[in-house]
Amino acid sequence: MSSKQLIAGLDRFDKERPGGRGVPQPVLPLNIGKVHAIKDFLFQHTEIYTEPQFCEHPMEYKNALCGAVVKVVLPKMFDPGDPDVCPECSVAGYSR
Ligand SMILES: [Zn+2]
Repeated sequence: MSSKQLIAGLDRFDKERPGGRGVPQPVLPLNIGKVHAIKDFLFQHTEIYTEPQFCEHPMEYKNALCGAVVKVVLPKMFDPGDPDVCPECSVAGYSR
């Protein structure tokens, strides 16, 4: 196993009102864009998340290896074979 534990993340999320009412809740975007790689410090000490983590406050944002701002932490490892993968993160995460 690689010593690098990289988590998949997205730089965007959508908001929807459940049932069309109430406070909009963050949801996974229809167009997920690029899947970035992040080093999630929490994952070093805990298990991988089971649900996407939405970062709604700028203080919660995470930085992808390519420098992009990640607002959604996906409950899975970063997979360079993913068709939507960010090429810069793929290079940054696995070439050194
Ligand atoms: Zn990236």
